[in-house]
Amino acid sequence: MSEQAKTPAIPATKQAPAEYFTGGTAWVTMVVEGNPTDCTVGDVTFEPGTRNNWHSHPSGQILVVTAGVGYYQEQGQPARLLRPGDAVSIAPGVVHWHGASATSIFTHYAINPGVSKGVADWGAPVTDEEYQAAQA
Ligand code: MN
Repeated sequence: MSEQAKTPAIPATKQAPAEYFTGGTAWVTMVVEGNPTDCTVGDVTFEPGTRNNWHSHPSGQILVVTAGVGYYQEQGQPARLLRPGDAVSIAPGVVHWHGASATSIFTHYAINPGVSKGVADWGAPVTDEEYQAAQA
């Protein structure tokens, strides 16, 4: 094996797919790929005001907040304010969104188990009205 082949890859940060986000840009660095655990871990940073669309996960999701201030909201429930150290455990199929506050970046690990069943089922954008209500 060559020295080059033994050098670990530096994880690449990519812009999250814009069609699933509103209000700004989000960035994703994959830190764990899906093998051998069928679970991925992504480090996701949202610009202030940026949130993802309403969505659910076929096998659920765990969020662990590492920086900034943001929100998590399940359909029909009040939004939760999230700060570093907070964690959210999301059951399979529960419709929700997560994203930054209007004035702060927001960074969380997104832990996605069971990715062989798919990562997310995406729905409509979180409207400005829904986003403003989350901050009330
Ligand atoms: Mn989610």
